[in-house]
Amino acid sequence: MAASCQFASFLSRTMTNKTSITIVGAGLVGSLMSIYLAKRGFEVVVYERRPDMRQVEILAGRSINLALANRGIDALEKVGLMDEVNKHLIPMRGRMIHDEAGNVHLQPYGNKPGEVIHSVSRGELNVLLMNAAEAAGVTIEFNRRCERLDMERKKLVLVDEIRGEICEEPYEIIIGADGGGSEVRKAVAEITGGEVKEDILSHGYKELIILPDAGGAFLLDKNALHIWPRGGYMLIALPNPDGSFTATLFLPNEGEESFASLKAGADVEAFFIRRFADAVPLFGDLKGSFFENPTGMLGTIRCLPWRYQGDAVLIGDAAHAIVPFHGQGMNAGFEDCVALSGCVERHGDAWNKAFAEFEEIRKPNAGAIADMALENYIEMRDSVRDPKFLLKKALAWKLEELYPDAFIPRYSMVMFHLLPYAEAYRRGEIQAGILEELTESAKTVEEVDMARAKRLIVERILEVTADSTTSNQSNPDAASAT
Ligand SMILES: Cc1cc2nc3c(=O)[nH]c(=O)nc-3n(C[C@H](O)[C@H](O)[C@H](O)COP(=O)(O)OP(=O)(O)OC[C@H]3O[C@@H](n4cnc5c(N)ncnc54)[C@H](O)[C@@H]3O)c2cc1C
Repeated sequence: MAASCQFASFLSRTMTNKTSITIVGAGLVGSLMSIYLAKRGFEVVVYERRPDMRQVEILAGRSINLALANRGIDALEKVGLMDEVNKHLIPMRGRMIHDEAGNVHLQPYGNKPGEVIHSVSRGELNVLLMNAAEAAGVTIEFNRRCERLDMERKKLVLVDEIRGEICEEPYEIIIGADGGGSEVRKAVAEITGGEVKEDILSHGYKELIILPDAGGAFLLDKNALHIWPRGGYMLIALPNPDGSFTATLFLPNEGEESFASLKAGADVEAFFIRRFADAVPLFGDLKGSFFENPTGMLGTIRCLPWRYQGDAVLIGDAAHAIVPFHGQGMNAGFEDCVALSGCVERHGDAWNKAFAEFEEIRKPNAGAIADMALENYIEMRDSVRDPKFLLKKALAWKLEELYPDAFIPRYSMVMFHLLPYAEAYRRGEIQAGILEELTESAKTVEEVDMARAKRLIVERILEVTADSTTSNQSNPDAASAT
C-alpha cells in the first residue's frame, strides 16, 4: 500500500486556483506539451523517472540524434522555440547512397529550395525543451517513476527512484507522455476495456559512432543522411555538431545475416567487410563498440481509446509508437501537442470533449504514419537502389513542378507539408497508381506521355479532390491552369 506522502510540488500547486495538469514523462513530447499548457495558463507538473540530464550524464535513451522535419518545426515555432532550436540543427539535403562497390551518390529529399530535414541531438533538444518548460512555469520532478494509476480514485502511485519511497498523488487531469512502455496507457486500457496492439518488428538496431578526424572534421559529407542499403537491411548515419556521425545498423534479429549470427568479434568484422566495406575504416573499434552498445527493439503500438473521460489522455509514443524509418515519431508527437492544445482552446473546461476531439483527429493520422513508416523501411534499405524507383521519383518531381497544387510526392507531403498524415497516405496511394501506369513502358521521364499524365491527374486527383471536403491543400484552379 502506497503511503500518502505528497511531494512538495503538489502542495504548492493546490494553493492556486488554476486547473492543475499532471504529465507523466519529460521526454521530447511531454516537455513540449507542458510548455503549450503552461502558456495557456495551467499549473503543470511533470513526473520523470530519469534523473535530470542537465545535472547527471545519462544516455538520452534510444537514438542519439533524430531527424526533425516540418511538422516538428511547426510545433516548436508555435511556442517560439525555433530561434533557439536552429542553433542545434544540421540540415540534411538528401540521402547519400553508398553502394556495395563503394560508389556514392546523393538522392535529394525534395525538389524545392528548403526541402531538407535536420539532424538534432535528442539530448540537446530535450534539455532545451525542459529549460523552456521551467521558464514557462512548469515544475519537473525527476527520479519520480509512475508505477501505476488508480483512475477511479484519480490517484497516481509514484516511486522516488533515489530513496525508494512510494507515494500516492492525487491528480485533476493526467497526460501520458511516458513513451512506448506507458503506464498511463495500461491504466487507460484497463479502466476502459480498451485494446492495445503491439507489433514487434523482426529487425532490431544497434548504434555505432563514427568519430571526426584528428582535426575534428567530418569523415563523410556533413549535410546528408548516409545510407548503405543492402536489400534486407541497412546501415545509416546522421551527423552530430561535434564532427561525429551516429551510425545505426538495422538488421534482422534472427537468420543467416542477423544480430543472432554476429556472435564474436570476428563475425562482426567479416560481416562489415563483406557488406559495408567502405564504412569499415570509419569506425574506430568496430568490434568493441558493437558488443558494448545494446541492440534495440523496434515496434508499432496501436491502441484505442487514447483517453479516459475528461481525466486522462495519451500523447506521443504512449499513444502511437512507430518504427523510425520515416523519421516521424517525434515529429508526430510534436504535432500531437499542437492538436491537443487546439482542442483545449476550443473546448475550455470541457476536457471530455477536448480529449474526444483530439483522439478523433489524431488516431487516423497516427495509423497512417505507422503504416508509412513501415513501408519506408523497404524504400530505404532496398528501393533506393532500383532504377524504376528512381524514375518514379524523378517523374513525381516533374509532375509536382507542372501541377504543384495537385501532385506532391508522398515523401514531401509527410516531411515538408502539414497535410494530415491520413490525407498524405490517401493521396500517396492514388499518386503511386498514376506513377506505376505512366512508367510501365517508359525508361526516362522524357519518354512519359505527359498528356496522359495530365488526364490521370485531373481524373483521379483534381476531380476527386473537388468533391472532397477532406483535402486542405489542393487548389484545382491553380493546377488546371498549368
Ligand atoms: C532508433 C530510433 C530512431 C528514431 N529516429 C527518429 C527521427 O529521426 N525522427 C523522429 O521524429 N523520431 C524518431 N524516432 C522516434 C522518437 O524517438 C520517438 O517518437 C520520441 O522519442 C517520442 O517521444 P515521447 O516523449 O513520446 O516518448 P519518449 O521519448 O520515450 O519519452 C518518454 C519519457 O517518459 C519517461 N517515462 C517512461 N515511463 C515513465 C514512468 N513510468 N514514470 C515516469 N516517467 C516515465 C521516460 O524516461 C522518457 O523521458 C526514433 C526512434 C528510434 C528508436
